[in-house]
Amino acid sequence: MVEKPQERYEDSDLYRIRHSAAHVMAEAVLEMFPEAKYTIGPPIENGFYYDFDLPRPLTPEDLKVIEKRMRQIIAGHYPFVKKVVLAEEARQIFKEQPYKLELIEGLEQGGADEYGNPLAEKPEISLYTHDKFIDLCRGPHVENTGKINPSAVKLMSTAGAYWRGDEHNPMLQRIYGTAWRTSQELENYLEFLEEAKKRDHRKLGKDLEIFVFDDEVGPGLPLWLPNGGVIIEELENLAKEMEFKRGYQRVKTPHLAKEDLYLHSGHLPYYADSMYPPMELEGVRYYVKPMNCPFHHKIFASQPRSYRELPLRLAEYGTCYRYEKSGELFGLMRVRSMQMNDSHMYCSEKQFDEVFMSVIDLYMEYFNLFNVTDYSMRLSIHHKSGLGKKYVDNERLWLKTEDMVRQAMKNSNIPYIEEPDEAAFYGPKIDVQMKSAIGKEFSVATNQVDFAQPGRFNLTYINEAGQEETPLCIHRAPLGTHERMIGFLLEHYAGNFPVWIAPEQVRIIPITDAHNEYAVNLAKRMRDLFIRAEADLGAERMSAKIRKAQLMKVPYMLVVGDQEVQAESVSLRRRDGSRQDGLPVGEFITMLQDRIKKRSKEL
Ligand SMILES: [Zn+2]
Ligand SMILES: [Zn+2]
Repeated sequence: MVEKPQERYEDSDLYRIRHSAAHVMAEAVLEMFPEAKYTIGPPIENGFYYDFDLPRPLTPEDLKVIEKRMRQIIAGHYPFVKKVVLAEEARQIFKEQPYKLELIEGLEQGGADEYGNPLAEKPEISLYTHDKFIDLCRGPHVENTGKINPSAVKLMSTAGAYWRGDEHNPMLQRIYGTAWRTSQELENYLEFLEEAKKRDHRKLGKDLEIFVFDDEVGPGLPLWLPNGGVIIEELENLAKEMEFKRGYQRVKTPHLAKEDLYLHSGHLPYYADSMYPPMELEGVRYYVKPMNCPFHHKIFASQPRSYRELPLRLAEYGTCYRYEKSGELFGLMRVRSMQMNDSHMYCSEKQFDEVFMSVIDLYMEYFNLFNVTDYSMRLSIHHKSGLGKKYVDNERLWLKTEDMVRQAMKNSNIPYIEEPDEAAFYGPKIDVQMKSAIGKEFSVATNQVDFAQPGRFNLTYINEAGQEETPLCIHRAPLGTHERMIGFLLEHYAGNFPVWIAPEQVRIIPITDAHNEYAVNLAKRMRDLFIRAEADLGAERMSAKIRKAQLMKVPYMLVVGDQEVQAESVSLRRRDGSRQDGLPVGEFITMLQDRIKKRSKEL
């Protein structure tokens, strides 16, 4: 049962510990470089950082010295003392610190918090002091430095970072650190990082020949190799089956459209920064699509609709193009072209709960199929101050739809946290975070309520009373994009895909050339049954071939020699090292087909 939303990170112990550790680190750095200019040092996922303007580049040796000094400060048990001040006093205190002065100005004008993030209300200006160090900050911290566990703090690395993330600003030096409650937690985290490095989808994607990037094609535009192509097809087959059973209808829409369409949808100008620039043809401007929604709305509008057709579920694996800054591109996780497991579901207000729940239900099936046991959902809602600016100006519908979603979430007993002021411009949304097998978090899927676009596109249906009504629209993408999903699956499975989705399912390895023909026939027999089997007829020795297949993480290797040819059998070696000799070919194929058909987790 979920009565209450989960605790937010901002309200947790770890957040206070990390935030406090950032202050302690800054004190140590300022002692080392009295002329240093310090900027901001927020907690982040799994740790904290602080950005400094320093007279020289930091070395790994420096980090050791800073870390040692941090432990001494921690041992001093210095209390964190808060003081609320007027801007003038703050300016006096930080008169040698230009970055802090800039932040004070932001606080004073009320537009930004002490990290420079936009803020709805004008904040008070507060300082926190411990030992001899003073920072512009609104907390929260631990009581005193002694509450930081000295054996659970570690400085991790340094990196360059522009002030406020803007490349026109000075380059600062960022120190990353991590802090935990216990040394065991720290150790677990360091192990997690080691494992995550091995599972990095960029590394696995290359090793397993899934995808590549090419300079001449362009940044953020992945090329899917044949192995990646197989995974994509399997995912699409999965989505099609699941959606077909639930009454979705598949549509296809073009990759580009006239400017008018995006003006109509509001993507222009509100979303223009994330779109590729236009191209002009016969005096008309065209844009490649950043989203599929307006096209599906046009399909809804293409004929008169009756309540009998609702909910209408239009689905498409649509390819969208978005402009992500080059600095923000990251493997398959942040790309410029993406194939989306998209659908737009049009329904009446009465049907909302049922339709929304059916989407949640679909999520659950996917989680189960992919063995995702740890997930969470975030409900992003509007903020009053953004009405008419970043949000559609209709408070009644905001409150109503937010409540509908909240109610549906409660009914489904799914843990979720609520995030104010993070909604889409047309309605509240649910973002789904999935944790991979090693606990790395991925934001893959989204589920959004839209009470604005159907109105913008004059979408109507005739209700039971014979009157025109505007439907609600739900945008949903449980499998996200192929790019993120496959990135996630690579790391989740460490490349060891279940057999149904494994690019190569069976590798047949003849012991000598004399067994090549048997191997080839076996491969053909399986391929005729749509099993992805290959015979390895290379010149290497058998042991080398086995090693090669293991490196490619092929689920099943079949070794065939005289005995197998004679008995029409195979010697099965599974990816996990288990073996089964003298297995009749027919029996192996039946087992395999069953695993594939059921999309089994078993090897
Ligand atoms: Zn602080
Ligand atoms: Zn959409």
